[in-house]
Amino acid sequence: MNSTYDVLIIGGGPAGLATAYLCHKHGLSYLVLESGKAIFQGIANTYPEGKLVYASKPKDAPEPFMVEELRPPDKPVTVESYLQYVQHFVQHENLNVQTEVAFEDIKDERDGLTVITSRGSFKGRKVVLSFGSNIPRELSVYGDAKMVAKNVDDAGKYVGIKTLVIGGGNTAADVIINILKAKREVGDTHPVYWAHKAETFDVNKETAQRLGEEILLGGNIRLLPGATPRIGEVDEEGVDRLVIRINVFEQADGIDLYHALSFPMKNVIACIGSQGPVPIFDKLGIQMIACAAGVCKIAKEGERLVLLTAEFESTRKGVYVIGGAISPSFMKISEGAITEEKHPNLIYTAINDAYFVVEAIRKKVGR
Ligand SMILES: Cc1cc2nc3c(=O)[nH]c(=O)nc-3n(C[C@H](O)[C@H](O)[C@H](O)COP(=O)(O)OP(=O)(O)OC[C@H]3O[C@@H](n4cnc5c(N)ncnc54)[C@H](O)[C@@H]3O)c2cc1C
Repeated sequence: MNSTYDVLIIGGGPAGLATAYLCHKHGLSYLVLESGKAIFQGIANTYPEGKLVYASKPKDAPEPFMVEELRPPDKPVTVESYLQYVQHFVQHENLNVQTEVAFEDIKDERDGLTVITSRGSFKGRKVVLSFGSNIPRELSVYGDAKMVAKNVDDAGKYVGIKTLVIGGGNTAADVIINILKAKREVGDTHPVYWAHKAETFDVNKETAQRLGEEILLGGNIRLLPGATPRIGEVDEEGVDRLVIRINVFEQADGIDLYHALSFPMKNVIACIGSQGPVPIFDKLGIQMIACAAGVCKIAKEGERLVLLTAEFESTRKGVYVIGGAISPSFMKISEGAITEEKHPNLIYTAINDAYFVVEAIRKKVGR
């Protein structure tokens, strides 16, 4: 167990890093826990290559960017240059960030909060949840399958091994194209297995064409439609493996016969999309309110919105939620009333939320 931080920050995107920088500036001890390989992983994963980053600000927003240092330039630059700039900034300021640490849970302690992660526990007086709006889905299997990769940063890693890609859409197809290309370049003929729980795959024409080209150039791909990941297990040699069922033969005696494949988890990539943060709020016991009877203008009828104070504190004391995680709207408690508050998903909003939260925390901890 580490020492107690004033603020534990979950997610190293614009919201999390702005929080970290402001804590750093005001002498609050803090630590950013980021699940990705690097800061701004959320943006790196979702923006297309070469996309321009705009310093967009909602028309009716009164404040300027409250953390100028993280503001995208007025003349839009590519996402690659913005990421490079932010990386230099974090290094230059020596911000306290730990990468490849996935947040899992929060436990209340008498003197603060304990954050449980994939790499152990951390103690903090306050926790800022800034994990964005795209939470990668986990494979729902018996046992543990946390070791499974969610995307591919280096297709070369899969050269020389039989790989399993799970998911039926464009992302999975793109991953397969990149791996087949890397294998082709070095003459590796080990197959890539493509598994999807449905019977058909669903990719757009352009992706299908690129995939078809790789297959015609010799790409070795085995399709596994109707396959379902079942068990995450450790074998007798200590290797984490994923068992995926590819066929079920129902027998007259009631005993089913299965065909299944077992892959070392390091050979598996699960492109099964992302979800909003609602399941995490549920797990944490953070209260949400359902939009009913025309109460909400932005959210749809029946959608549940997280309930926050004007200072972004949730119903779990000491736990704040900011940035993309509460976009495009949340329920705000203010002066005894609860109303839906518009919250556009922008770098501007993420950064400015951080400013208001750090101001509120400074008041509470007296710094
Ligand atoms: C394609 C695209 C283009 C966009 N273009 C613009 C633009 O030009 N201008 C603009 O202002 N906005 C733009 N946006 C929106 C903007 O990117 C978001 O508003 C902003 O990134 C939100 O910041 P955030 O820090 O809240 O979340 P994110 O940027 O999503 O950061 C969250 C971080 O938390 C990490 N994380 C997630 N789960 C965990 C976990 N369990 N444990 C630890 N870490 C975790 C993620 O890896 C990620 O790094 C765009 C969005 C998209 C998708």
